[in-house]
Amino acid sequence: MIPVTKTFFPPLQEYHAQLERIWKNEWLTNRGELVLELEKKLKSYLSINNILITNNGTIPIQIALKLLGNGGEIITTPFSYVATTAAIVWENCTPVFVDIHPEYLTIDETKIEAAITPRTTCILATHVFGNPCNIEAIESIALKHNLKVIYDAAHCFGVTYKGKSIFEYGDISTCSFHATKIFHTGEGGAIFCKDEALRHKIYYSHNFGHNGPLDFYGLGINAKISELQAAMGLAVLPHMPEIIEGRKQVVEAYDRLLNFDKIKKIKIRESAEWNYSYYPVLMQSEEALLDAQKALNELDIFPRRYFYPSLNTIPYTSKQAMPISENCASRILCLPLYINLSTDSIIKISSIVR
Ligand SMILES: *Cc1c(COP(=O)(O)O)cnc(C)c1O
Repeated sequence: MIPVTKTFFPPLQEYHAQLERIWKNEWLTNRGELVLELEKKLKSYLSINNILITNNGTIPIQIALKLLGNGGEIITTPFSYVATTAAIVWENCTPVFVDIHPEYLTIDETKIEAAITPRTTCILATHVFGNPCNIEAIESIALKHNLKVIYDAAHCFGVTYKGKSIFEYGDISTCSFHATKIFHTGEGGAIFCKDEALRHKIYYSHNFGHNGPLDFYGLGINAKISELQAAMGLAVLPHMPEIIEGRKQVVEAYDRLLNFDKIKKIKIRESAEWNYSYYPVLMQSEEALLDAQKALNELDIFPRRYFYPSLNTIPYTSKQAMPISENCASRILCLPLYINLSTDSIIKISSIVR
């Protein structure tokens, strides 16, 4: 079977060596030695100076909205994984969708201002497939209207924009370290924030609000990651250069073998260094997509319809029409992409899609 992605498994003895440290410490959670070490190594790998790692990539979005959303309207993209929208609704805020750019597939910054009302508190945009939003435009709109910016950067591990980690942008950025993501801890995630006062609130929010065992700064939840997950992260991280290089080779092979007269690739933002996290193609029509999917499935090949359906059409959101997002969502297919996907498989997949 060829799935859309395969989780990278580090050599078992490397994971085992990390587990031995846990057994020796007899310490499983509450920011143990391995969690602290993983944060330190991630800072160095990503060239950033703040990170808080968490138990998944959804709860950091919820914490960001809890601290900045203020129960208001959140301007957001309809083209993302459902977690982006669900977090807004879960935090008792209201998603207000703005359609996407037809080539970048990120939120269309030229349509944001028309969606702002006196109740708007934040812009929550996704750098979908690791492709940066129009960061400058979003930041200047936010500044002009006194809004906060949160980036769902779940797909962005290793992406840089204008020479800096993408996680450096926005009031808060978040990432996912889920098993299907490019860097993973099984389940896990991270939250990034440059402002020290806000970072303090994020920190206590992720640990029940604690200030010592009997004292509390404020309201909190449990977003802590365990030593067991950090062990996986420490075993995977040294392999990131080979993971990204291996994916790059698959992407370049698809680029050579597919025919882009009819199908389209997404456009990667200028000044971005991308991480080869997904291989999305826009087919000519939903019918063409379903035909290709069926033909691939018959050969035990399982691409995924990331991201379908458009999030403005799911049951708990208001049904604002988002023509571009709905159209792209109906035609987009992510082809299998992982390190060591064989050349034969890439040739087979490409010829069927062609
Ligand atoms: C994976 C993903 C999330 C959620 O991350 P988890 O770690 O699975 O909670 C959020 N947003 C986007 C865009 C994602 O792809």
